[in-house]
Amino acid sequence: MGSGGGFVSDTRTVERSMMASTRLVVIGGDAAGMSAASQARRRRKSDELEIVAFERGRHTSYSACGIPYLVGGVVSDPEELVARDPETFRSRYAINVHLRHEVVGIDADRRAVRVADLDAGGERWEPFDELVIATGSVPVRPDLPGADAAGIPGVQTLDDGMELLRILDAEQPRSAVVVGGGYIGLEMAEALVMRGLEVSLVDAGPQPMATLDPDMGALVADALAGVGVTVHTGSVSSGTRAEAPRPLPTSSGASPAPFGPTPSKGEGDA
Ligand SMILES: Cc1cc2nc3c(=O)[nH]c(=O)nc-3n(C[C@H](O)[C@H](O)[C@H](O)COP(=O)(O)OP(=O)(O)OC[C@H]3O[C@@H](n4cnc5c(N)ncnc54)[C@H](O)[C@@H]3O)c2cc1C
Repeated sequence: MGSGGGFVSDTRTVERSMMASTRLVVIGGDAAGMSAASQARRRRKSDELEIVAFERGRHTSYSACGIPYLVGGVVSDPEELVARDPETFRSRYAINVHLRHEVVGIDADRRAVRVADLDAGGERWEPFDELVIATGSVPVRPDLPGADAAGIPGVQTLDDGMELLRILDAEQPRSAVVVGGGYIGLEMAEALVMRGLEVSLVDAGPQPMATLDPDMGALVADALAGVGVTVHTGSVSSGTRAEAPRPLPTSSGASPAPFGPTPSKGEGDA
């Protein structure tokens, strides 16, 4: 594959930019991916470096940290959490972002990525000279019965936050369980309280925020109780009953309220 030429794939030929000698492909269009793309542009002008980013979601450069505020109603419009959209990247930085395009394979020998167009359908190969993989990390789903049931969302992307909002609006749940007392679990528990839900937080450790010293963790537990979250520490969730009217008990014997009228559990990141 020569620089600046075409790349012959099994579906079609992808034309390389005839201007730039090098092509940078970025997988993932949020903080890390678009920071890398922007930094590359600062160092190399568009006639030297073509930059293309593929993002499987509907947004670039969004604040995942703002998702709890969106869910809690502090932020009303998801667009407020978007720092830069694809049009801004294109017009100001000559960075070409393809939303709803998921990279499904990498051929390192041929220096090409396999890209699925999630809206139009179909796949194609896209060549690269340099590749940045910035796909983030996904919430861990505990290996428990029912953990993959519908209505138990994980939260990574802004699309995930919007999907959680949709579920809350559609199903109008009265209560929720958040499994895992790390900072994202805490933030989501508070957000759900702000939406008027009865919220239980379950954590296997002796305190929420296991990264803190016990005296600090005790303050966090007090603060959670102060905002109305029922905390079950030393408790391990043993499963999820998606259609059962009552939740499964935890190992401490507590019976936290289920997430939603029918589904019954939130996972580590709510
Ligand atoms: C609810 C929540 C609250 C948070 N609060 C804070 C906070 O208060 N303070 C703080 O410092 N951090 C916070 N964080 C963490 C912070 O948001 C992350 O550290 C940061 O978003 C990581 O950026 P990233 O670009 O590495 O990954 P991500 O933000 O996860 O972005 C990865 C992107 O890659 C895309 N992608 C994945 N696979 C593919 C593929 N195959 N093809 C194309 N695209 C793909 C995804 O759709 C996603 O948009 C929070 C995170 C969450 C979820």
